[in-house]
This record gives sequence, C-alpha cells and structure tokens, in this order.
Amino acid sequence: MRLRVLDLPSGLDEPTSAVLARAAERLGVSPERLGDARIVRRTLDARKKGHPRWILAVEASLPDDARVGPLPRGVVPVEPAPLPPAPVRPRGAPPVIVGAGPAGLFAALGLLERGIPSILVDRGKPVAPRRLDVAALLRDGTLDAESNFNFGEGGAGAYTDGKLGTRIGHPLVRNVVETFALHGREKGLDRILTEGKPHVGSDLLPAAVEGLRERLTAGGVAARFSTRVEDLLLDSRGRVAGVRLAGGATIETSRVILAPGGSGREIFELFARRGWGLQAKPFAAGFRVEHPQALVDRIQYGAAAGREGLPPADYRLAENPRVDGQKRGVWSFCMCPGGVIVPTPTEAGLLCTNGMSSSARGGKRANAGLVVAVGIEDFAREGFEGPLAGLAWQRKWEQAAASLGGGACRAPAMRLSDFAAGRSRAGALPASSYRPGLTAADLSALFPEAVRAGLRAALEGFERKMRGFVTEEALLVGVETRTSSPVRIARGPGLQSDALPGLYPCGEGAGWAGGIVSSAVDGLRVAEAIAAEMG
Ligand SMILES: Cc1cc2nc3c(=O)[nH]c(=O)nc-3n(C[C@H](O)[C@H](O)[C@H](O)COP(=O)(O)OP(=O)(O)OC[C@H]3O[C@@H](n4cnc5c(N)ncnc54)[C@H](O)[C@@H]3O)c2cc1C
Repeated sequence: MRLRVLDLPSGLDEPTSAVLARAAERLGVSPERLGDARIVRRTLDARKKGHPRWILAVEASLPDDARVGPLPRGVVPVEPAPLPPAPVRPRGAPPVIVGAGPAGLFAALGLLERGIPSILVDRGKPVAPRRLDVAALLRDGTLDAESNFNFGEGGAGAYTDGKLGTRIGHPLVRNVVETFALHGREKGLDRILTEGKPHVGSDLLPAAVEGLRERLTAGGVAARFSTRVEDLLLDSRGRVAGVRLAGGATIETSRVILAPGGSGREIFELFARRGWGLQAKPFAAGFRVEHPQALVDRIQYGAAAGREGLPPADYRLAENPRVDGQKRGVWSFCMCPGGVIVPTPTEAGLLCTNGMSSSARGGKRANAGLVVAVGIEDFAREGFEGPLAGLAWQRKWEQAAASLGGGACRAPAMRLSDFAAGRSRAGALPASSYRPGLTAADLSALFPEAVRAGLRAALEGFERKMRGFVTEEALLVGVETRTSSPVRIARGPGLQSDALPGLYPCGEGAGWAGGIVSSAVDGLRVAEAIAAEMG
C-alpha cells in the first residue's frame, strides 16, 4: 500500500533521512520498512516572521504485512494514476483551435489523447522567433502588434513568470504540471513536481511549450502561426461552419475552440458587433509595485534572510477596505520574486505592465501587481456600457499610462511612499528592473479616485502585515490592467456556446479561467466535452 504523509514541518537544514524517519514514525513503522520513500512536496512556510521552515509531504510504500487499520491523521492513500482517456473515432473535419496559449495547447493535447487531431491557429509567431519581438519591446518599446508578450505560440503563458499555482483545485491540475515537467525535463523541470508552489521561469517555459507543440504535431495536429482569425463562418442553421482568416482564406469545420486570451480584443469586438452572447465582466486593475528583493527577504525572513537554501521571499497580501461606503477587494497579484517588470501592450499608443522572472529568480528586485477590484458600476461611471464596457475602461487607462510615460513604452512611476501619502514630489526615482525605462510622474492622474483610494487604504493594512512594505525604496509603476478578461463569452451545457452551436469558448479570454494552469485545465475540459459529444 502506498501512502502519503502530509504536513511534516521541517527545519531549513534537516537532512532527508531525518524527515523520512519522522514520516515512518507517523505511520507507526520503523524507517527500514518504508519502500521507495521520498519527499514529494516542499512548500516554504514563512508565516512566522524570522522563522521560515519547510512543510513537506512524503510518499512511501508499506509492506503487505504492515498494519492497515484506520490511517493516522495527516496520512492519505496515494490514488493510482488515472487511466488514459478512451479513444474516440473522429467525425468530420478536424476541430479548429483559435489561440495557442495554455488553453489552446492543452485543448489540442486533450483531443489528441483521444485520437482527435485538430488545427491550431495563432496570430503570433512560434515561440522561438517570438523572443526577438519580446526583446525589441524591452529594448526600445518597439511593438509588433502580432507578436509580443501576449501573442504568439504559448500565448501570454510563454514569456511569463511561469508560476504554475492555481486555486481551482481541479483533478486535472496535476496533468498540467506533469505535462510542463515532462516537456521541460531536459532543462531540469522535473523539480516542479515536488514544488508546493511550482515555478518554471521565463527562460525555461518556451522550451517546454516547444516540446509540447512537437508532440502535438508529431501526433497529427496542424499548427499554423502568423494566422489571425477574423471571423466565424456559420451555416444556414446558425451553427459554426468554420473560421475566416485575415487575408480572406477560410478553414471549414463544425467545431471551433475559441481561446484568444484576455488580450484577444478584436475577437471580443467581433462578438459584440454580431451580438453573440458576450458580457462585460469584473476584473482588477492597479499598478506594479517594485521593492529591492533584499528588503522583502528581510521583512519576510527576519534574521534568517540570506541563509543558504532559502529562495527569494515572496508575499501574498489582501485587504477589503471600505471606500465610499462600499467594500473593495485589493490584493497583490502575480508576485515575482527576483523578477522584472515588463511592458505588455498589444496595441500601439497603449501601455500596460506585468511581471516575470527566470527560473533562478536571481534578480535584485521583487515586483507584484497591486490591484483593486473593478466592475460594471466603475465602467458606467466613466461612461462605458454594454459588453465592451470593461475593455473600453482598460483602454482608457492604458492610453493614459502611455501618454503619462511619454511614449515608446516608458512607464510612469512614483515612489510608493509618496503615493500612499497622497503627495507628488520631483526628484530621481529608485533604480528599477523595468525596461525600456521609467518616467517620474504623479500617478494620481491614473484611474478613478475610488480605485486609488482603495489602494491607499489597503496599503495601511499591507504595512501592518509587512512592516517596511510602504517605503521610499519601493516604486509604483503604471498600469496593471490585464489581470483577467474584461468579458465573458457565454457557454451552456457541454461547454458549448448556446448562441452558436459548435463554438467552445475556452480559457482566460472567454472569461472561464485566469492564469496558466486554470486556462490549461479549461482547455482539457473542453477537449473532454468535444470527445463526449463525438463519442
Ligand atoms: C508577463 C506575464 C506574466 C504572467 N505570469 C503568469 C504566471 O506566472 N502564472 C500564471 O498562472 N499566469 C501568468 N500570466 C497570465 C497567463 O499567461 C494567462 O492567464 C494565460 O496565458 C491565459 O491562457 P489562454 O490560453 O487562455 O490565453 P493566452 O495565453 O492569452 O493565449 C491566447 C492566444 O491566442 C492568440 N490569439 C488572440 N487572438 C487571436 C486571433 N484573432 N486569431 C488567432 N490567434 C489569436 C494569441 O496570439 C495568444 O497566443 C502572465 C501573463 C503575462 C502577460
């Protein structure tokens, strides 16, 4: 019988043999009786300031004659690996998948695992040449509107921080992490299988994406890059009949998986124009904050900061302050220890930012989004209504940020302490990781007062939780607007659109996921739904 011993606290220097001995003790056997015992999960627990420790999980097999009574608390049986999905006989033309981000790639994988080849179409370039476009954006703000941090093979997931954490708790989460580990194995990505907070890094993610695509194409998936979908074809009954590409060519199919990501704005505009079941949805917006990593380490680890074996510290903060008589969620988002802030616009004349880091997280700075929940009422207050209200709201502030930054993707920034105190002052800014560069500016020109007030109020709480967080060493950089999709494309039973049978809205852009893993899981679920419908 194979068992998993959960929640074993462990000092930073405890040898593995001592951990396994404690696992054996919990199981009520001597360590020699454990078969193939190993640590399968390591999560750093830094909640008690100054006393970071690991929380471990150990898996081991017990001999057949070992006691099989009620399992001790914190011990669970290891479930056998699920059986591979049953094959389905494909019917009709292959499904077309719009978008080769995590949702689209995993939808293609889920279909292929059931014997269904598909056609994967993405407006951007394959992941390797895409790197040059990302580099040009960082160098001097040159934007290729078809190939950038959001568009191209791997989607917004390719040049990201590559944190594979999610809160969705779906059984398919494990498949997604295992798939990244498998395709990044040559680069040592097996390690993410034991990380409590798996992190790939922007230096390794593209190779894993490329490996996954090679597996897909070897199995019969056709991948077409630099191919933008402009419209859907419908038959006389209003069912999906294919897609029309930029340039006019068409691909006929009766099943389209639509996974254009949160920046697939032309698709949202198409749906709004045609009245195809699009709704505005709430999301969150704010700024990126950047601290010296050493400062975050000191706050989180106390005297243990700098100890060998301790990763650069992270944080997760949330407050719910009352603004204008209403509660507003404010939280840190996509925190990148040892990372950099990057420009992530997809349209000329607009600016937004995000964060990423390499696998080593070796940078001198730590950044995170500090974002405030915004919804339909906020959009209406700015005069935006209808299904594209959130998109119009995003564009308004992305345009304001671009103009405050002075162009060429320079980002407006100020000291966090000045923002918190509601003052603006001239003077040089602290050093930053952000390229192509910052412009000192008063960020009170950005976002409605309610958003800024919510953030200011939350900063008081953040400072109480992390003494030294609100410091003049920290920078606030504008703006973070694309935390999740500003729209949702409705879908009914079988994950299919009610308005357009044969259409499967999928992933972050369709409003059904947020983040790499949940988008990938949504892709797998859609593949499962299509196979069920074909079977
Ligand atoms: C810099 C950065 C860092 C991030 N860090 C993390 C992180 O550490 N962890 C995490 O979980 N999430 C992170 N995210 C968010 C994550 O990348 C997204 O949530 C995820 O990629 C969404 O997956 P998706 O497949 O739904 O959409 P996307 O990844 O956005 O992919 C959509 C794809 O569709 C294509 N497309 C769009 N329109 C069309 C069209 N008309 N025709 C053809 N193709 C089209 C695009 O080119 C794109 O490749 C980060 C995002 C960014 C930008």
